[in-house]
Formats: sequence, C-alpha cells, structure tokens
Amino acid sequence: MKAIQAVRGMRDITPDESGRWSAIERSIANVFSRYGYREIRMPLVETTGLFHRSIGEITDIVEKEMYTFPDRNNESLALRPEGTAGCVRAVIENGLLNVPQKLWYCGPMFRYEKPQKGRHRQFHQVGAEVFGHPDVNVEAEMLLLNQRFWNDLGVAKNVSLELNNIGDSVARAHFREALVTFLSAHTKSLDSDSLRRLDSNPLRILDSKNKDTQSLLNDAPKMAEFLSTDSVDRLEQLTRILQGQGIKVKHNQRLVRGLDYYNDTVFEWVSNDLGAQGTVCGGGRYDKLVEQLGGKPTPAIGFAMGLERLYLLLEANQFAALSDNHNPDAYLIVAASSCQEYAFNVAEKIRNALPDFAIMQNLAATSMKSQFKKADKSNAKYALVIGEDEVEKRTVSFKHLDTGEQVSFSTADELTSLINYLGTIN
Ligand code: ATP
Ligand code: MG
Repeated sequence: MKAIQAVRGMRDITPDESGRWSAIERSIANVFSRYGYREIRMPLVETTGLFHRSIGEITDIVEKEMYTFPDRNNESLALRPEGTAGCVRAVIENGLLNVPQKLWYCGPMFRYEKPQKGRHRQFHQVGAEVFGHPDVNVEAEMLLLNQRFWNDLGVAKNVSLELNNIGDSVARAHFREALVTFLSAHTKSLDSDSLRRLDSNPLRILDSKNKDTQSLLNDAPKMAEFLSTDSVDRLEQLTRILQGQGIKVKHNQRLVRGLDYYNDTVFEWVSNDLGAQGTVCGGGRYDKLVEQLGGKPTPAIGFAMGLERLYLLLEANQFAALSDNHNPDAYLIVAASSCQEYAFNVAEKIRNALPDFAIMQNLAATSMKSQFKKADKSNAKYALVIGEDEVEKRTVSFKHLDTGEQVSFSTADELTSLINYLGTIN
C-alpha cells in the first residue's frame, strides 16, 4: 500500500534534530527570563474574525495565506498565522492590562505559502509582546534582548538590524496620499501586485521585490518627510541607545512590515546567509491594536522570530554554540536475558545517585558483539557490561569506549564505588 505522507509544507522534527530544537528553545527562554518576560500559551485556533480585524484585510496573510474552516457549528475558525492577534485577545480576555506586561510565547504558526527553504506552511515562531509602555526604552530593551539571543546562540555575526519609523496614522495618511499621487503617474513601472495595492495598501509597494519598482521608488516621496517631531525623536533616541550598547543600526526607509497594525518603530533582523528568506525576526510598535480589538487603549510593541530560519543560521555555524548533547553517557550491555533483572537494579541505582547521567540499557536478547556495535553507534562515552559472572559477584565491568581502557571494581561494595567513579569522571 502507498504510504501516507505529511501535508505539503509541514514537516517532522526528527529525533536527530529535536535535541537542537530544545537547546535553542532553552537558550531563548533563558534570555526572556533574564529580562523579566513571562510565558503565555495561546490556542492554535482562533475565530477568523480576530485576524481580519487585527492583521488587516488587504495583507498577504488574510488575502491568501490563512487556513480557515467552518467548525461543526458553522463558525469560521482559523489556524493562527501569527501570535500577536491571539496574544492581544488573551490579555484583554484575561484582564492582564492593569499593569505593564512583558510576555513571550513559542509555537507553531500556519500559512498557506509556497514551500521553500526557510518558508513552510507549518513553521515555528518565538514571539514577545509588551503592553503598557509608551516610551522608547521598551523598544531599546526589546532589541537588546534580541541581540542577546544572537550572542548566546553564536549567530551575532550572521544578522544585522534594520530600523525604521513609519509614523502615526496622520503622518501615514499624508504620506500615503503623496505616494499614491507619485505612483499613479508611473503605473508602467508597477507589476500587477503593486497595481492592486495602489488602491488598497500602497505602503506595501515600498517592499516590492520588483527591480523596476525599486528603482522608481528612489524618486518617490519619503516617509521621513512626513514624520512628526515625536516620531523623529523616537527614532533618533532609539538609535542612540542601541549604538551606545554596541549594536550597529541601519536605517531602512523602505521597511514597512507586512501587517497593518504597526505604528512608529518597526524593525527587522536580517541575514545574508538565508537566501531569499532573509528576515529572521521582525516587529514593531502597535499602539492602536488593543483598542481596535476591544480593550482599553494600551501602547504595545512586539516581535516574532522564525525558528526554522534561526535553525538554518545555527546550521551554517555547525551549531557550535549549542550544548545539545543527547547521547547517552553509558550504554549498558546485558549479556543474557537472565541478567536483565540485575541490570535494572544497576541502572536504576546509578540513575538515583547521578540524575544527570544518561544510561541506554540494551533491552533485546542480542549477541555481545552486536551490543558493543550499538554502544559505539550510540556515541556513549562508556560501556557498562553485565554478564553471568557480574550477576553472581554483584559487580559491573566498565569500559571507556574511546580509549578502550577498562576499569575493574574489586571492593566489597562494587556499585557504590562505580557510582563514585562515574561521578568523578563525568
Ligand atoms: P516574509 O517576508 O519572509 O514572508 P513575514 O513578513 O511574512 O516574512 P512575519 O509575519 O513578520 O513574517 O513573521 C515573523 C518571522 O516569522 C519572519 O521574519 C520569519 O522569520 C518567520 N516566518 C514568517 N513566515 C514564515 C514561513 N512561512 N515559514 C517559516 N518562517 C516564517
Ligand atoms: Mg510572509
């Protein structure tokens, strides 16, 4: 029979990779707690309306990337394409907006996109949202936290920060008008996507990948000319704080981000090592979204990072900064079925005494030769061997698999001395 395959664009994380995934997640969780962020976990499914109201109708996500379906009660539900909307819903619903909140989350997101390197239909994001802080310090701290991710994971040299300020709604309305006037006079240089956006979402034309459009934009009006002094100050202050902490900042006036809800600060961490999918992490301020979703007016800012892309960056560095050793410390070779009961005794006693020591016990009745082969293959550092002789004398033989050195225990209390020995070498 033909085997059933995973859904296109959705992949398994195999045991060979999962150790690295958890090491990455541990490293990230550790950085969050050092900055006083707490974890929140939202459902993977929300009402479709939530995303229409937050992300915006004329965005790639809502127009063509969402997985939506009617449930049995005919309510339209969606697999979440991102985390911000659900997080905002959750803080409103759970009454979490009385005090400033610094929250983070991690989990799968779903978008119906063309699968390719660094772009999947189920992918994983780590995101954070901070509520109740209007001033620029929260932007600064968030970007310093991002930088610490890269430092701790050993990819700092692979990513760089791009920053922009897209102003408040008034500035954007004026800029939008000027941009539409300019582009309408040059529709010949616009592709069909940009033409469509000219009416609906003209700011998105700024990050068009089309070469003609890009060169046309060199002469277009610039957002910076429309910013309020508050917005200009915010960008300058943020740049100064970050530079003071040694972060290189590139101002990118074309940076607009794909979702509708942003205002003022927007940023992306980009990499040259990821091909076309160059953005690892992006975010910005969204001071109006909480109100728009029915909460009390609350300033907010957030970011989301794609873990598949981060994983690719770490891979390019041979995972050098990750401690993801999931090999067993010792492989326990059991010569015959009659020896298994004593072997359990030994393995459990060692696990009780040494909580960090991982033992892979051979559970099948196979030859010593094949068990030694398996021990080598498991990458364990040591082999513990139990045969009839050991059972009778209540001992264990012990071998360093890399050097072949054998150690024997000849005192009365063999296991205690073995445990002491393991404790000192491990
Ligand atoms: P892109 O321009 O690459 O489509 P985006 O602007 O749609 O990204 P966001 O919605 O800002 O992305 O999501 C934040 C991060 O999540 C991205 O920077 C990226 O690292 C990751 N990401 C987004 N979509 C995907 C996907 N389909 N597969 C893997 N990672 C993704
Ligand atoms: Mg996208």
